[in-house]
Amino acid sequence: MTPDLASLSQDQLKALESDLSNQYDTLKQEGLSLDLTRGKPSTEQLDLSNALDGLLGGDYQSRDGVDVRNYGGLDGLTECRELGAELLGMPVEQVLAGGSSSLTLMHQAMSIAYHDGLSGPGSAWHLDKNAKCLCPVPGYDRHFAICEHLGIEMIPVPMTDAGPDMDAVEKALEQDPSIKALWCVPRFSNPTGIVYSDETVRRIAHLGRIAGEHFRVFWDNAYSVHALNDQAPALANVFDACREAGTEDSVLQFASTSKITFAGSGVAFLGASDKNLQHIKASLSALTIGPDKVNQLRHARFFAQDGSLKAHMKQHAALLKPRFDTVLKHLNDAFGDNDLGQWNAVEGGYFISFNTRPGLAKETVRLALGAGVKLTPAGATYPYGKDPEDANIRIAPSVPSVSEVDDAMRVFTLCVTLASVRQALQH
Ligand code: PMP
Repeated sequence: MTPDLASLSQDQLKALESDLSNQYDTLKQEGLSLDLTRGKPSTEQLDLSNALDGLLGGDYQSRDGVDVRNYGGLDGLTECRELGAELLGMPVEQVLAGGSSSLTLMHQAMSIAYHDGLSGPGSAWHLDKNAKCLCPVPGYDRHFAICEHLGIEMIPVPMTDAGPDMDAVEKALEQDPSIKALWCVPRFSNPTGIVYSDETVRRIAHLGRIAGEHFRVFWDNAYSVHALNDQAPALANVFDACREAGTEDSVLQFASTSKITFAGSGVAFLGASDKNLQHIKASLSALTIGPDKVNQLRHARFFAQDGSLKAHMKQHAALLKPRFDTVLKHLNDAFGDNDLGQWNAVEGGYFISFNTRPGLAKETVRLALGAGVKLTPAGATYPYGKDPEDANIRIAPSVPSVSEVDDAMRVFTLCVTLASVRQALQH
């Protein structure tokens, strides 16, 4: 536990700094080499899906009689689209099963919206020289990279415990018709881990009434079934809400099995209205003759039994939860009774988002690296890598073992405390 820094005299602060610096030097000598940067499944998690290999056993015929070894079928295999429909909570007819990466599908969908338009002639975003996208912050750096790549200006909006600040989102849309998109990671958001409230989902479904007809919500439901416990909050179905609001064209939904089976060798899904799907498929057909149906069939058969997806995700949770618990225990022990850091006690997904006191994220990341713990670069959770407060750090504990997470968090909490004490000494 760290004493309240504001109550310490300059001499007491100096003594504390010297003690923490010594502890830091000792930690450095442990020669740790740990990585809490990217949200990847651990080897044990990947092992859960090893049965995918060889699963087809020479039977390449899909349920509809398609030889999956051959070209064709832009929509994907029906039985695999059913898996996507389960993940996205949508009718199978509105789900496309694509290649192995949902990020690629998001890039393609955004590129199509930008270059070709999703509602026919005149709807391409590039016709508006000021096309912009709302980005809840902190958020996912690879979403920001897509916008940056396409030259779409990003406007940050704050995240709350219930999702994006909807007053800010609605106000921005009312004031600026050049805003064409909103990024969302609605369940176990990357990185804050929060689940959008029912009210937020309802208001997001209404955005299509406030914004112009070319506006789209990119609903990246990457963690829809990635709960760490049975009590984790559920997410309201955005398409049901859109149907009620008459705004089905305003949302594009994405998911993949990257963090269910093999990361980067899974199946990605797009769920959208008939109209959006029609425009997206017209453009996709210029890119590909069809997706990897062999992999799609393996996935469909792997999860063919009722309840098998749920049971599989429980096994993931059993491996992930102790790692998350370890992070949360360290944070609670070190900062539960002071104001040196803030975080959410997440119940799913892959991340814990931590805020230092303003101005200390970069320094904390630098100190941690010096002691052998690699963290996601400070700022990565903000558009253009610019966290105006220099406070947010994303912690991704899935890959290291529990004892490695324990070591890494010893370093992390010490570095946050040391940086905070040094800052207090300067004021
Ligand atoms: N969306 C989010 C929110 C993610 O966190 C990740 C992986 N870190 C992805 C998408 C990547 O998905 P995929 O592997 O399907 O491209």
